[in-house]
Amino acid sequence: MMGAYYDLIVIGGGPAGYTAAAEGAKKGMKAALIERKAIGGTCLNEGCIPTKTLMHCTELYREVKAGEGIGLYAKELSCDMGKLQDYKEGVIGELQKGIGIMLKQNKVTVYEGTGQIVEVPEPGEDSGKIKVQVGDEVLEAGKVLISTGSVPMKLPIPGMDLEGVLDSTRMLSERTIPKSLLIIGGGVIGVEFATVYHALGCKVTIVEALDKILAGLDREISQSMKMQFKKMGIEVHTGARVKEIRKEEELCCTFVEKEQEISISCEKILVAAGRRADTSGLLGEGISLEMEKGRILVDETFKTSIPGIYAVGDVIGGIQLAHVAEAEAINTVCAMNGTASRMNLKLVPSCIYTSPEIASVGMTADEAKAAGIEAVSAKYLTSANGKSVLSGQERGFVKLVAEKSTGRLLGAQLFCARATDMISELSAAIAEEMTVQKLSGVIHPHPTFSEAIWEAARLTAEKTY
Ligand code: NAD
Repeated sequence: MMGAYYDLIVIGGGPAGYTAAAEGAKKGMKAALIERKAIGGTCLNEGCIPTKTLMHCTELYREVKAGEGIGLYAKELSCDMGKLQDYKEGVIGELQKGIGIMLKQNKVTVYEGTGQIVEVPEPGEDSGKIKVQVGDEVLEAGKVLISTGSVPMKLPIPGMDLEGVLDSTRMLSERTIPKSLLIIGGGVIGVEFATVYHALGCKVTIVEALDKILAGLDREISQSMKMQFKKMGIEVHTGARVKEIRKEEELCCTFVEKEQEISISCEKILVAAGRRADTSGLLGEGISLEMEKGRILVDETFKTSIPGIYAVGDVIGGIQLAHVAEAEAINTVCAMNGTASRMNLKLVPSCIYTSPEIASVGMTADEAKAAGIEAVSAKYLTSANGKSVLSGQERGFVKLVAEKSTGRLLGAQLFCARATDMISELSAAIAEEMTVQKLSGVIHPHPTFSEAIWEAARLTAEKTY
């Protein structure tokens, strides 16, 4: 059945997709959004929001349990994982409703189903109508944006399909707390789930193939997190290659660490070894896009190899973060309409919701050195920050990196309470090419966690010329 014409059809309704559709509509495009599962994508339904909801609850649980140390007693405290899951579903529902209203207000038409590109312009043609099928309808589009996201990666290891071996999507819906959990992968998902399940009283073990956890981050943060995990009682194995998973009385994971074979029994196993682009069902017969290792290749303006078709977010690989996908979507819609890009894609803050939290933006000291920049860095320990001490936070730090000759702020790495909320001040300072001298002249209220930024700026400024 022949359907309507749209200036823009977006396939995939995650943060990139719904942002692009609304942004297109705001710019006067007749826009449609196609989603086969639930609006909000991985972020809202099986990623950021559900994980952080569980983290909020388990953090609260941990704090109440620790209350005895300061004279607060809560009798018979326990955690009902089923109810916690219901709360999480409620949060998702509320946010989904909000996105639905926002799309309606912007007059975006939403289609439920798998969007499949079935006809594209002839080779050599610059543009032309593209046909997208959803259910029985074939829609026509001037432009198509693919934002179909990613799915958890499966490892080619024996035992991956055993019952109790879960990916993050399935783990997020578990209604019981296992006694023990082994996590394969010490990346972002691995450390966040380790934090949640440890707080719930589960024995957690992390097995990471590389020689450190959170390998992409500042060296000191990765070391500090490993030490913090050890202190909490979370077992961390690095440089550990998983060989197989077997079903015995419990599950048994065998890995090789420093040439030694180790086997650990556990009730559940979480596989958090990365995510891969999801293009399933996207391309109709005879239609192909240039791809590499399953991800769609795009140029710097997010154009794919087919004229009129663009792609953003996890499906193009790169940095798989919701805020990056959204920023790419906004810039792409700006480019489609010939308006200037709004989002600075060169500066990407990264936040990890462990305890303490981790946040970073810009260059690390090592990266500045590798780029040939003479840089200085200084670290302020939050054990001297009033708000951190009075609220019983773990020891942490705020580290700043600046160009030695000018004091220009180049990067920031935070390992402390509220790091994820505080990082935006530093992103803005870097984007505006602020110096640490200027930053240290800005009054930060007392007592706040953010005073640590002011202190770190003062320490860094002392090291510049
Ligand atoms: P990741 O790439 O961050 O980490 C995967 C880890 O698994 C790596 O350290 C890798 O070395 C390890 N690994 C791979 N194969 C292994 C094996 N056979 N044995 C042991 N270890 C193995 O990926 P992720 O943690 O799965 O997260 C996926 C994506 O989602 C990432 O891009 C991440 O940034 C994003 N994400 C972000 C947040 C956040 O920003 N807070 C939260 C969750 C996920």
